[in-house]
Amino acid sequence: MDPTLRRQGEAARGFLLPSEGLALHGAGLIGGQVGPLLEVGSYCGKSAVYLGAAARECRTVLYTIDHHRGSEEQQPGQDYYEPGLVGPDGRIDSLPALRVTLAEAGLDEEVVIIVARSGTVSTYWRTPLGLVFIDGSHTEESVRADFQGWSPHLIAGGILAIHDVFPDPADGGGAPFLIFTEALASGAFEPLVEEASLRVLRRIA
Ligand code: MG
Repeated sequence: MDPTLRRQGEAARGFLLPSEGLALHGAGLIGGQVGPLLEVGSYCGKSAVYLGAAARECRTVLYTIDHHRGSEEQQPGQDYYEPGLVGPDGRIDSLPALRVTLAEAGLDEEVVIIVARSGTVSTYWRTPLGLVFIDGSHTEESVRADFQGWSPHLIAGGILAIHDVFPDPADGGGAPFLIFTEALASGAFEPLVEEASLRVLRRIA
């Protein structure tokens, strides 16, 4: 397939483009000076490699959270179902793929895998963070809960990154765009970088 077409398809599916990965890595290098990094939505670990490498350079860690049961659109019969990610119980399980990705990248020490729902972890979380990357479920309820659950843990000077920010909901990113807009409007964040559907903000208050 034509690489440009494939990239467009991958962007629409919520996958991280190489240019977004590099921007995310740069954001991780800034956030990693401030505190540990945290990602919501590990899936098979592509963004965890970019952020985990930044964590290693900053001598900190990346926490990556996912229930690994797949998002709404990844369930059997849905558009983004991956038959290769079915566990022994017949349910989606992306954890083995994540572990392979991190081991191959040599990031087992720097990336801490948390298998849970994001809200369950944020409720009990106590460690101030240097970066929060929101890339989990795309329902408005989930994206809002991720933002509200994690942004209070961001240290001033820390980074908020949001993936799949598309101003036009027809492109598949209505809820992340909404939360990006609300974060800016709150006055607590300033925009730093825009790369494809990735938005990078810095906490200023
Ligand atoms: Mg995404």
